[in-house]
Formats: sequence, structure tokens, C-alpha cells
Amino acid sequence: MKIRSILLFVLALSVFFIAAGQSDKQSLKTGVLRAGIAKADITPDIPVMLYGYASRKTPSEGIHDHLYARAVAFENGGKKIVMVSTDLGSYTDTLYSVIKKSVMEKFGLKDSEFFLAAIHSHSSPVISLDVNKLHINNVQYTRVLQQKILTVVGDALKNLRPVNTGAGKGYSPVGSNRRETTSDGSVTLGRNPYGVTDKEVLVLKITDTDGKPVGAIFDYATHATSLGPDNMMISGDVLGISEQFVEQILGKDFVSPVFAGASGNIDPWYRILPSFNTENGWIPETVLLGTLLGEEVVHVFMDIKNTLPGGEISSAFEIIQCPRKSLDEKDEELPALDQQKTVPVTITAAHIGNDVAFISFNVEMLTEIGMAIKAGSPFRHTFIITHCNGSSGYLPPAALYKEGGYEINSTHFAIGADDIVIKKALRMLYDLK
Ligand SMILES: [Zn+2]
Repeated sequence: MKIRSILLFVLALSVFFIAAGQSDKQSLKTGVLRAGIAKADITPDIPVMLYGYASRKTPSEGIHDHLYARAVAFENGGKKIVMVSTDLGSYTDTLYSVIKKSVMEKFGLKDSEFFLAAIHSHSSPVISLDVNKLHINNVQYTRVLQQKILTVVGDALKNLRPVNTGAGKGYSPVGSNRRETTSDGSVTLGRNPYGVTDKEVLVLKITDTDGKPVGAIFDYATHATSLGPDNMMISGDVLGISEQFVEQILGKDFVSPVFAGASGNIDPWYRILPSFNTENGWIPETVLLGTLLGEEVVHVFMDIKNTLPGGEISSAFEIIQCPRKSLDEKDEELPALDQQKTVPVTITAAHIGNDVAFISFNVEMLTEIGMAIKAGSPFRHTFIITHCNGSSGYLPPAALYKEGGYEINSTHFAIGADDIVIKKALRMLYDLK
């Protein structure tokens, strides 16, 4: 009797260890990937100065569509990635630092674990805490925004649960190269359908472990500027509308943050007509383009059949200094540069498993540079995220400097900065692999 009990005990113990060993083997390989996703309305409830065009001298006049902050948190083995997309213009380096500090203190994150991006909507509030430089309503708005970002990050982290992920890609015609050559040979802001344009739509599908859709991160290279400078209403423009479209189609509680890819020289294919008229409600150009892009995201999402559990994560953060353009090379109408010799480029990189990487930059990267990084990346799907973790302005490829044009006149970077950034980005991606 005694021997039988011992044998039974040993048998039970070995069954337990075999079972534990198997699940251990699996988690040793890929760990348990958890994700949490959250969304907050960040539409201003007071009139605010709008971002992006110097020609607008008065505050906003109503709301075309609501603005949101969307956060996705990933966790595996204690490592985290928190990605926040906001339907805004851009964050200055100073504002990013202030918000990052409060987020890191509250949630114990590292530099490399936090992405704070804007979709570059030119119909969103200018954001800053500087009362001397900005309309008081905008400062007030920014203070509220800061609290809402803390809340949305907290909510995403609270929602962490095991998930499956899978990635895929499609193409959308919504963005077009905007560097148009005029009859006298100069380059102006217009449309250049034959120019280089990255039309890839990257999608990361997130489901719960039963396959129920939870969210999608998507990445597309275009300015969110279809409303143009005459618009005085709040809007997320093309990218904001595309997020809302995807969420409408994929169901209640589904959250789909977009990140703007390398879109420094890419505009939406067309803009609002000169006879700008909003009396009938939503503006067709913006809604149509946003719907087109959103439809492709839904399509790619549905086509991703192979979602898997697990996937190790890790991340890296670097600030590199790139050579600054000398003052006499600059367009005289632009604000005088400070006397520093370099311009900082903040790069944050992270990966999920062997297939998916995110790499972000605090610059308006021109599309050629993003395509070069994607092509050289050791990951199958590399999400390029611009307007992220600060703002150092346009980063053009060296080959375009001789052509001139808006992005070249506006950039702070000297020729050759692109090469430094591409090499550093690829180094960081290879180190994560
Ligand atoms: Zn821009």
C-alpha cells in the first residue's frame, strides 16, 4: 500500500513536470506576449490655434471630426513597449521630454520603452506649455492633454492580457510625392505622381488568444493635410479619419492607432477644392481619402490568418548628433537657427519576435530614407514612425539638395545627415535581431 502510494505520487509528480516542462519550453522560446490597448478623446473643448500653416491667425471654429490618443502596451518577461499615437501635429523636443518624464516616473518605463507620436494633422491644436509663445487656450489644452496621455497609458497597461499577433501589408494610393517640377525647372509644393512614393500599408493585427480582434497598429506615409490652410475646423484629417473608419468596421472596443511613415515629401493625393464649403457637414475629399486608406487596412487585417502567441520584445534608444546646415545656406525668411553645430536625432527601436520591428524618429523624414531603412532592415515588417519623441524638422536625402524646394529650404540638416541616420537605424535594428 505504501509502495503504491509512493508510485502514484512519483507518477503524478512526473506528469506535472512533463507538463510544466512543455509549457516552459514554449515560454522559454517566445515567452508570453501580453498587450493592452486604450483610447481617449483629446478633442479640444475651447477654440485653439491650429498647427502647421502660418497663414492662420485666429483660433479654430468648430469640430469636423474628433481627435484621439490611442495607446498600445506590450509586455513580455518584464520588458515593455508603450506606443502612443495622437491625432496632433508634432511634439517639440521640450514637450516630449516633459511628458516622457511624467510617464516614466508614473509607470517605471525606460527611455527605449516609450513612443509618443503625432500623425501630423494640420487641423489639430498647436501644443506647448510655453505661455510666452502660445495662445493661452493652447497651453491650457496641452496641460489637459498631458493628463490624458498619462491616463491612456495607464489604461493600456492595466488592460495587459495574453494576445496573438501577426503582420501583413497592402498598398494604398492615398499619398503622392509632392515635389513638382515647374516649367522653369524649379521644385515647388504640388503633386508629382512619378516621384518616389512609399505606398505600403503595414498592419500589425492583435487578437486575444481565442482569435477575437483587439486592435491593429498601422503605418502609412502621408502628411495629414488634405484640408489645407483655409480649414478652421478641428480634424485628424486623412489619417485620423482612416483610424475611425477601421474602428467602425472592426467593431466596438477595437482600437487602431496609425503612425505616420516617412512622409516628409508625401501629401494626400488631392486637397479640398478652392470653393471650400463645409455647410453640408463632412468634407468629401478628406473623408474619401481616409476611407480609402482605412479600407485597405481592414482588408490587410482580414487577410492575416496566421496570428501566433508569444514573441520576445526588446527595445533601444539613442540620440545622435547630425551636422547642421550653415546659416548662409538657409532661406533667409526662415527663423534664425541657434548657434549649435549639430541637430539631434532621437531614434527609438523595438521589436516583437523575429518579424516585426518599430523604429521611430523625431524628424519629418522624406520617403526615400524610410524606404531605404525598410529595405535594409533584418525584420520582415519594419514600421517607420515619424514625428515621434520630439521634432527636429525635415530630414531630406542627400540627392535632393541640388534640386532645392520646400523641404530642402526648411531643413536644419546639412547634406549627408540622411546617411548617418540610415546607418544608425540599421545598426540598431540588427542589434535587436
Ligand atoms: Zn510637414
